[in-house]
Amino acid sequence: MILMYHHVGPTVKGGNWVSAEKFDRDLKAIAAAGKRVVPLARYASPAEQVVLTFDDGNRDILEFAAPRMAGLGFPFELFLVGRRFGQGGGERGNWLSERDVAAVRGCGGRLQYHSWTHADLTLVADDALEAEIGPPESLAALDPEGFEFFAYPFCRYDERILRLVRKRYRGAVSGKGLGRENEAYAMDRVKVTEDRMLFQHDRKSV
Ligand SMILES: [Zn+2]
Repeated sequence: MILMYHHVGPTVKGGNWVSAEKFDRDLKAIAAAGKRVVPLARYASPAEQVVLTFDDGNRDILEFAAPRMAGLGFPFELFLVGRRFGQGGGERGNWLSERDVAAVRGCGGRLQYHSWTHADLTLVADDALEAEIGPPESLAALDPEGFEFFAYPFCRYDERILRLVRKRYRGAVSGKGLGRENEAYAMDRVKVTEDRMLFQHDRKSV
């Protein structure tokens, strides 16, 4: 199972947020269920393995999620948005910097890509697509072992996008049921929310 997070923080500020307390419970639930946390590059068994992914490059991941995963020796994947990277705080977010991602890597995180602008790529013209999908050299240089996987913004993709992603990447992740677990360029993910318990047999379990 591939889990998708966006924000982890002291308080829940919206549907893309999970509290640090809930995140702790998720990590314990993964260990208690006997699942092994692996990097996406080594993901082979949805039944036995879990991959932890974080989209957009929010700074709270460094503060509230990365140290918790490092403490347990859990690797994780961070999907960065090129144009936001290094932009610091602002009205619409607080993005990781170059120094931050070095710290993230020190905690066992690997850097991956999530497009240049986070546009819905199915609406982007053909001649602008390549610049959305390939990471700039300067960014790719920050993790020589990373940038092997792509996360589609809004989990949306079409044949044009798939063609370019296949050329540049080893695989890609989707979500929202728009992909299939075993499809290398549309690996499905489960979005984790504050009230969704992992691995428990109730209606909200995943
Ligand atoms: Zn995103």
